[in-house]
Amino acid sequence: MNNHKPSHPDTDRRRLLGGGAALVSLAGLATLGLTGCATTASGPSLGRVVVIGGGYGGATAARYLKMWGGNIEVTLVERNTSFVSCPISNYVVGGHAGIDRITRGYDGLKAMGVKVVQGDVTAIDATAKKVRLAGGGELPYDRVIVSPGIDFMTEQVGGLQAALDAGGVTHGWKAGPQTLALRRQLEAMPDGGVFAMTIPLAPYRCPPGPYERVCMVASYFKKAKPKSKILILDANPDIQSKKGLFMRAWEQHYAGMVEYRPNAALREVAGTTAKLEFEDVKADVLNVIPPQRAGDIAKNAGLITANNRWCGVDWLTMESTAVPGVHVLGDATLSAPAMPKSGHMANQHAKVAAAAIIQLLKGEPVNPTPVVMNTCYSFVTGTDVVHVASVHQYDAADKTFKAVPGSGGLSAAANQIEGRYALSWADNIWGDMLAV
Ligand SMILES: Cc1cc2nc3c(=O)[nH]c(=O)nc-3n(C[C@H](O)[C@H](O)[C@H](O)COP(=O)(O)OP(=O)(O)OC[C@H]3O[C@@H](n4cnc5c(N)ncnc54)[C@H](O)[C@@H]3O)c2cc1C
Repeated sequence: MNNHKPSHPDTDRRRLLGGGAALVSLAGLATLGLTGCATTASGPSLGRVVVIGGGYGGATAARYLKMWGGNIEVTLVERNTSFVSCPISNYVVGGHAGIDRITRGYDGLKAMGVKVVQGDVTAIDATAKKVRLAGGGELPYDRVIVSPGIDFMTEQVGGLQAALDAGGVTHGWKAGPQTLALRRQLEAMPDGGVFAMTIPLAPYRCPPGPYERVCMVASYFKKAKPKSKILILDANPDIQSKKGLFMRAWEQHYAGMVEYRPNAALREVAGTTAKLEFEDVKADVLNVIPPQRAGDIAKNAGLITANNRWCGVDWLTMESTAVPGVHVLGDATLSAPAMPKSGHMANQHAKVAAAAIIQLLKGEPVNPTPVVMNTCYSFVTGTDVVHVASVHQYDAADKTFKAVPGSGGLSAAANQIEGRYALSWADNIWGDMLAV
């Protein structure tokens, strides 16, 4: 993954995600008795699967259930009309691309025979095996997949919900209107102004994401508002990912512009002032990344099992440890040791779940040895990128995924070739999940 050579995006798609998927799926495919990608439905229906959430986990699961499962009725329920990616959204915040670069539709899935319903799931009735939609509709299922991403624990920070509702403060941690709102605030900020970003205690979605955002904001300021300052108020004791690489980028490209403050937990928001335990920090633009937990539907359906935040799963099937017949993917899960909350990982969870659900619907054993992988790219300038990668193998004794010793690693230094890889990775994974 980290030593491939640049090539045409289509070739990259086959190699990167074909290769990535193969780690998860070859054993699964062998168990399934499939020799290729079976898209043609034949014979009696294997069953009905409803997928809640058309993001990295849910869309991938819908596609792979259809592709590997053949005659499975797959319904995907997503509240938004199109998919807007969080990965690469910091690049948009930095002004290096427009929102259309990270937006894709659901037509590819529809063309494969996935029924795509635009709507909001309000409840899961696990006894009657039905999903309820806002507006009153119901969808019966044999198995349901829940990949709702995260929702925010705004109650932990005084004044935060009101500030977000009023629009004076942004989070930008769900891509779409928030990405654009943050960009507009940066454009409106005077040269010499202060951009402050707060980071919650880990775990949160995308460990390197906040530090990449700093780089992207800095790249814009360097060009358009060079007298401006960036303050990172991190509730954690240290930078959570790619520390040396980010610090080098701040020194090399944005000297004097970026200040990092550890152990700076946000207590309250008042206007664009961040109130910490011992001081108030006045900003011109305040970007708050709120504390996070599994999405609301996971909470309402009783899937949360750890710290009132995350959903425990059986890693062989991604089935909830709390509610039978319900499978949870992506950020909403209680992560295995050293497993990041990332889009790439949600995509891999989806393939484990799709293969397992097909087996369960057939009454056959699931793959006992899944392997998943992750690569996360971060832009440090408009062209230069760094990555972190890891491989995780199921450990039957401890019933969890564990990082494979010696696998993965970090870029030696930021470079432009990885800038091309990062954008190709994005195009490839969107193709993999949405069939576009
Ligand atoms: C700034 C930023 C940068 C990032 N960069 C990277 C990166 O470079 N690489 C990487 O791998 N990851 C990255 N991530 C992390 C990545 O975005 C998440 O880990 C990934 O989106 C998780 O996938 P998911 O399926 O769990 O959730 P999501 O992709 O968020 O999908 C959840 C979907 O469910 C829908 N939904 C929720 N509830 C309901 C409901 N009740 N009814 C109907 N629909 C519902 C939502 O609308 C959403 O579309 C980044 C994140 C951020 C914020």
